[in-house]
Amino acid sequence: MRIENFELCLILCVLIFMNLDLPLKNLSYVTPVYAKRLKKLGLFNVRDLLFYFPRRYDDFSAIIPIGKLKAGETSTIQGKILDVQNRKTFRRRMVLTEALIEDESGTVKAIWFNQPFLMRNLKVGQKVYLSGKVTYSEEGLQMSNPVYEIAKRYLIHTGRLVPVYHETEGISSRWLRWQIKRLLNFTNQIKDFLPYEIRKKEKLMDLSRAIKEIHFPQSISLAEDARRRFSFSELFLIQLLKLRLKKKWRLQKAYSIGFDEELIKKFTRSLPFKLTDAQRKSAWEILKDLEKTWPMNRLLEGDVGSGKTVVAGIALLQAASKGYQAALMAPTEMLARQHFFEIINLLKDFNLKIGLLTGNEARIFKKKNNSVSREKILKKNQDGDIDILIGTHALIQEKVAFKKLALAIIDEQHRFGVFQRAALQKKYESFSAVAPHLLTMTATPIPRTLALAIYGDLDISFINEMPKGRQKIITKVISPNERENTYQFIKNEVKKGRQAFVICPLIEESESLQVKSAVQEYERLSKEIFPDLRIGLLHGRLKPSEKEKRMKDFIAQKIDILVSTSVVEVGIDIPNATVMMIEGSERFGLAQLHQFRGRVGRGPYQSYCFLLTDSQAGKTNQRLKALLKINDGAKLAEKDLEIRGPGECFGRHQSGIPDLAMTGLSDISLIKKAREAAIGLIDKDQSLKNYPELLEKLKEFSRKLHLE
Ligand code: ADP
Ligand code: MG
Repeated sequence: MRIENFELCLILCVLIFMNLDLPLKNLSYVTPVYAKRLKKLGLFNVRDLLFYFPRRYDDFSAIIPIGKLKAGETSTIQGKILDVQNRKTFRRRMVLTEALIEDESGTVKAIWFNQPFLMRNLKVGQKVYLSGKVTYSEEGLQMSNPVYEIAKRYLIHTGRLVPVYHETEGISSRWLRWQIKRLLNFTNQIKDFLPYEIRKKEKLMDLSRAIKEIHFPQSISLAEDARRRFSFSELFLIQLLKLRLKKKWRLQKAYSIGFDEELIKKFTRSLPFKLTDAQRKSAWEILKDLEKTWPMNRLLEGDVGSGKTVVAGIALLQAASKGYQAALMAPTEMLARQHFFEIINLLKDFNLKIGLLTGNEARIFKKKNNSVSREKILKKNQDGDIDILIGTHALIQEKVAFKKLALAIIDEQHRFGVFQRAALQKKYESFSAVAPHLLTMTATPIPRTLALAIYGDLDISFINEMPKGRQKIITKVISPNERENTYQFIKNEVKKGRQAFVICPLIEESESLQVKSAVQEYERLSKEIFPDLRIGLLHGRLKPSEKEKRMKDFIAQKIDILVSTSVVEVGIDIPNATVMMIEGSERFGLAQLHQFRGRVGRGPYQSYCFLLTDSQAGKTNQRLKALLKINDGAKLAEKDLEIRGPGECFGRHQSGIPDLAMTGLSDISLIKKAREAAIGLIDKDQSLKNYPELLEKLKEFSRKLHLE
C-alpha cells in the first residue's frame, strides 16, 4: 500500500514536472553513484533511459507446477515461502541463502550464493515467483540462484518475458527494469513524432505503446512489432534528413557543362576496348548531370575492376575541354600516381594539362611529364593553367586554389574519413558562389536498396557488369598441411615470369604488431622459403617514398613476391601478378578479401587467390566458403550482410547510421517503405510546418548523428 501511494505521488509530481530532459540524477533512488554508472552507459536523462532498449528477453512467462519441474530446464514457479535462512558453508566460506517453496503440486528448494541480504526481502509466508535453472542435488531438485520476485499484480523480473539489458558494473538488468518500469507511466505524455497517417498505413505501434512493449512485452510478436516501429522511425528520419539535404544541395549554383557528343565519340573510339553497357549508362547519367545548373552529387558504385576510372575520365575530359578545371582525389599516393598515368594515357589525344599533387610529389604533364616544384603547380593551378589536377588529400590543403573548378571526383570515397569529406565540401564552398559538380566513386559493394538508405541524399549510378572476357580467379582455402604445395606453386608461377602477393594477417590491436609480423614473414620467406627469389616488403610504417618505390619495383617486375599488410588493398593494377596469398584470411571481412582478390587477374593470365587459415570456426569458414562460390562483389555484400549483420559490415562510424536503423537495414522492404513514406511527406509538406514534433525530433536526430 505504501508503495502504491508513493507511486501515485510520483505520477502526480511528474505529470506536473516530468520532462524527458530531466536528468536521471534528479529521480528518486538514483543516487550520485548510480548517476555516474548510468553516465558510463551513455544515459543522462529520462529520455535516454526510456530509449535504452533491452538486448534480449528471458522467456519466464510459462509458470510450471513445482511437481512438474525437470532437472536441466530453466523454469518459473509460483509458490509460498515455507522457510528461509542463511547458512555458512565450512569449506568455501560462503553464505548460502536457502528457501523452501511450496505450491499445490509440491515443494522445491531454492539456493542463492553470497547474497545474505536476500533475507531482508524474502519472508516466510510470502508468495513469490522464482525463475531459474533447475538442478539435481542429494535432496532432490533445487533451483540455484533463481531470479525472485515477490508476487504482485505487475511482474517485471519473472513470470513474463523479462528484458535483459547491456549492463555495466553496478548497474544490473534488475535495477534497470525497476527504474524503467517506474518511468513507463509517463510515456503517455510523449507526443509521437511519427505522423499518424504513416503509422496507420504501415501498421506501426504508436510511440508510447512501443516503448512499453519493447521493455516489457506481452508477447514476442509484440516485442518485434515494437522493434519494427523503432527501426522504421529511425530509417524514416534518416531518409527525411537525406531528402532535405538533397533539396538544400539543389539550391546551389554550378557551371553547366554542355554535353559534347563529338568529343565523347572521339574519346570512346580512342579506347582499346568497348565500354560495357553499364559504363555507358553511368557515363551518360554523369554527363547529363554536368549540364545542370546545380551541382551533381552522384555516387558511382562498381565492383573492383568494373572500370570506374574510364567513366571518371569521360567526365574529366568533358569538363576540362570546355575550359573548366577538374580534380580527381585518391586516398593514397600510389593510387593517385596510378590515376595520373592512366588519365594521361586515356586523354593523350586531347591536349590537356594534367597535374599530380601529393604530399611528396608534384608533376605536370603537357606532351611530356615533368617533375615541378609545388609552388609552380600551385601557382599554375590558381591561374587556371592546369586542366585536371590529380592527387591525394593534398588537394584539399589550404594552399590549393583553383580558378574555375567545375568538377571534383573522389575515388574510393569510403577510404576518406567523414572529416576529410567535410573538409572537401568546405573547401569547395569557399571558392565562389559556384559549387563544383561532385562525383564519388566506391567499390564497397552494397546492395542497391541499402545504398539508397545510406546514401539517400546522392544520386547513384551502378556499374553492375564486368568488362567482357575477364577471367575467373581460382579461389582456394588452404589448410596448414597444404602450405608447402602452395609455396611450390608460387615458385612455378614465378618461374613462368609471374608475380605474387602475400598478405599478412590483420592484427587489430596495433599497427606496430602488424608491421612486426610483416617483417617476420618477409624474413622467413626470403631466407627459408624462397631464398633465390626477389622478395619485397610493404607496410604502413614505411615512408611514402619507400612505399612508392617498393610498388614501382613490383610493377617494373624487379620484385617477384610482395609481402604486404593490408595497405595494398586499394585499386592498384598489376597485370603480371597472378597469385594472391592471404595469411590469416579468417580475420578479414568478406569485402576486404574480395578487394584483395581483385588485385590479381588484371592481366591475360589465369590467376589464383589462396586463403590460408588455421581456424576451424564455423562462422569464419562460412565466410571463406562464400568467397569460393561467389565472384560478384554485390552478391558477396549481401552474403556478408547476412552473416555479420549490417552493423559490422558498414561500421557505424563510416555510415553514421544508428544501431536500430542498422538492424532495420537488414530488412530491405522496411527501408523501401521508410523511404517512400519520407518522400510522400516531403512532397506534401516540404517544410514540415504541420509536423512540429517531427521537425523537433529531426533536429535532435541530426545533432546526434553529427556528434557521433
Ligand atoms: P575499378 O572500377 O576497380 O577502378 P579500373 O577502372 O581500374 O577498375 O579498371 C580495371 C581495368 O579494366 C583497367 O585496366 C581498365 O583499363 C580495364 N577496363 C575498363 N573498362 C574496360 C572495358 N569496357 N573493357 C575492357 N577492359 C576495361
Ligand atoms: Mg579504381
